[in-house]
Amino acid sequence: MVQDWRQLMDQRYHVEDSAEGSYVELAFECPADAVELRIAIEVEGPQGTVIDFGALDPDGVRGWSGGARREAIIGAARATPGYRAGALPRGRWAVLLGAYRVPSPGCDVAARVSYLAESPVWLRGDLHVHTLHSDGLDAPWQVADAIVGLGLQFVALTDHNTAAAARSFPVREDVFAICGMEWTTREGHCNLLGSDRALRDFRVESPQEALRRIEEAKAQGAFVSVSHPFDDSCPGCAWGWGLDLPMDAAEVWNGPWRPCNQAALAWWQAELARGRRLPAIGGSDRHAPHPFVRYGMPTNWVLSTTPTADGVLAALRRGHVALSVAPEGPLIDLRCGVYMQGDLVPVGGPEQLDLTAAVRSGDRLRLYSEHGLEQEEVLEAGEARRTFARDGRRFWRAELWRWFEEVRYELPAALSNPVYFADCN
Ligand SMILES: [Zn+2]
Repeated sequence: MVQDWRQLMDQRYHVEDSAEGSYVELAFECPADAVELRIAIEVEGPQGTVIDFGALDPDGVRGWSGGARREAIIGAARATPGYRAGALPRGRWAVLLGAYRVPSPGCDVAARVSYLAESPVWLRGDLHVHTLHSDGLDAPWQVADAIVGLGLQFVALTDHNTAAAARSFPVREDVFAICGMEWTTREGHCNLLGSDRALRDFRVESPQEALRRIEEAKAQGAFVSVSHPFDDSCPGCAWGWGLDLPMDAAEVWNGPWRPCNQAALAWWQAELARGRRLPAIGGSDRHAPHPFVRYGMPTNWVLSTTPTADGVLAALRRGHVALSVAPEGPLIDLRCGVYMQGDLVPVGGPEQLDLTAAVRSGDRLRLYSEHGLEQEEVLEAGEARRTFARDGRRFWRAELWRWFEEVRYELPAALSNPVYFADCN
């Protein structure tokens, strides 16, 4: 990510020798778009001067360095030892100075605070993989290596009815895991992402109980996405507890493209047409080496404001996600003014949509609204840019189909989520 530190405070403060033993607060406001704060002090004074420092957030002491450090970073995802990583609440923060030892005639402290503003970036990842914590082959560290090797930045660990894998996923700077489990019942599967305690018990006997389980998982903070809802290749793999249950998303693209994905895509289109706003996501469901079931096939492109599991899940909830057949793309970027796929354009908002995608010669672009397929075009290789009017529709979304010589079939290379339009009636 681009590191763009913006200055919040640059203050000099004189500490009298008579103030020895006291504390001073240098207050600053934490902006709403801050994802990391950096606090640094410099001390000028006679030999033997010791100024301790730490940070206050609106709830109290956020961290403390004593005299051991001159700089600290506090972020949503990481923090200097001695400080707590996590959300940065808005409101009054302060650099906390401790006048531990201040010989005459006192000292000067320069305190500087800067922050890193959130800047959305496309992160790529796989949202459905199995490890040796269920019926997969790879250990979590092997999943991490494979994901990094493909150029992906995140992976959701979704073993059957257990979230144990995330605990042994390595802490690395080039990849992060989303803790999850694939809730596996005799009437279908559902990925629960972002919580290691989504369900107290996975067993379920009725649609009413399935609804209660979903509500419980959501109350635990989990993101709920029905997996391969039409997969009838194995007993109990298709979702039989009702597709009107309050899912956060649907996995319309599971592993290699096949009839169950086509059925999921058709069902999703019908749901969109009747006014439901439901993000489409994908996942490889990779268990073991396989010619067509590979990590990152499909790949989720998520426009996230932070490179963290929370950032990805927040973006998924907003539908800020596009799917591609492989880690290298293609990405369909669908915008409407300042709005993007997943967004609801308000009444009176922009009416013109802009689509870009890097395509191959012969790729077929298809544009869908609530009326179904509306436009279709065979493209030349290169960066395709198309502009089209809303034309009174309630949503627009795009598919890119490609001829794959190895299977001699035309299959999806990319899907976008819809841009939705609010209606005045
Ligand atoms: Zn499954």
